[in-house]
Amino acid sequence: MFESTSLIVYTLFCIVASVCFVSRTIEFVANGLTVENLLRTVIIKEYDNFVLHHIQRTSFSIIVYSSLPLVYLLGTLFVNNSEKSFVYVYFDVLCLLFLVPIGISVSVVYNWKSNDWANHPLRIVLNHYDPADWTIPAHNITTEFRSIEKLTLTCGTLKKTVVTQNWIISIDQFNVSVAKKSESLFTVYSSDIFDNVPDGTPGAVQFINIEVTALRSRIKPFSVRIRSEDFQTLEEHIGHPIQISDNVKLQRSRTERFLEVFREQVSQNPVYRGYTAAELEDNTCAGCLVNIPNVKLTKCCDDDPVNEMLPCSSCQCRPMWCVDCMAKWYESRQPQNDTTIWLSSKCTCPLCRQVFCILDVCPLENFDFRNTV
Ligand SMILES: [Zn+2]
Ligand SMILES: [Zn+2]
Ligand SMILES: [Zn+2]
Repeated sequence: MFESTSLIVYTLFCIVASVCFVSRTIEFVANGLTVENLLRTVIIKEYDNFVLHHIQRTSFSIIVYSSLPLVYLLGTLFVNNSEKSFVYVYFDVLCLLFLVPIGISVSVVYNWKSNDWANHPLRIVLNHYDPADWTIPAHNITTEFRSIEKLTLTCGTLKKTVVTQNWIISIDQFNVSVAKKSESLFTVYSSDIFDNVPDGTPGAVQFINIEVTALRSRIKPFSVRIRSEDFQTLEEHIGHPIQISDNVKLQRSRTERFLEVFREQVSQNPVYRGYTAAELEDNTCAGCLVNIPNVKLTKCCDDDPVNEMLPCSSCQCRPMWCVDCMAKWYESRQPQNDTTIWLSSKCTCPLCRQVFCILDVCPLENFDFRNTV
């Protein structure tokens, strides 16, 4: 089938490049090798017209992807110098064969586009929200999408969820689903855990799938996929509770798990008594501005100031932080890709920059935060 080495190399290159292009690998997306970027002069910007952008993007995507075999075939004319090779002998037949998917995708898009995109799935959904004029909800979505208050959650490079003031939108390569938040039900129906996520997030990551069921008839339910650590943020933006099926158990975020370990350790450290109740009166934690300060950094560990690279020292700041904010500060100063050394590592006071370790975070008297989870 392949009599020419250059043809084999070219074929392998085309296969790898096509797979990366269609599956939108991080490297391809970062270098702008996506349909919407390559055709940015023809596809309107998402910011200028959200709905039209996605109608055009999905339409061009299916045409571009279905053209890849033909592009490969035309490329063989430049690399193939053997008249005996398969692609040369059957060039005309293959050409006709590879025109078929293009013909199908062009006819699908032609059907969508007729009568101002009347048959595009996204326009059909918007029509249910305003049968008289679909551009009203479309315009409303664009306006809300421009607001800085919208929430955008990405799940890899293939799936994106946008929550605006009134709408929830799930976007992937070929589909865009929309529902009005106030007229929908949300249910977490499944979850899966990945040990290695391509974007380099350390540790296992749990993804959850949420079904969005619009209460209006004839709008198909669709699903939204997010990281479980984004669940609370999503729920806040949706504005009402999301049901969780009995078979799904949400994994706590890494921060939540670290907070628990940190609290547990602090509760075992020596209690700090060198403050007066008046000192804490009317004081709130400098981090969250809600809780009353309940920890003080005082050197209690027995690290050796001579041999230590970064010896601990007592900070002279008055108690200003709650244990959770101190834990979050501590976590933010640790290497994010290696959690195993966190507990044995060091940090600096947020204010005076004196070095401390987790053994130096002393609970104030009368505070018991083992139960404040
Ligand atoms: Zn706090
Ligand atoms: Zn300090
Ligand atoms: Zn220490």
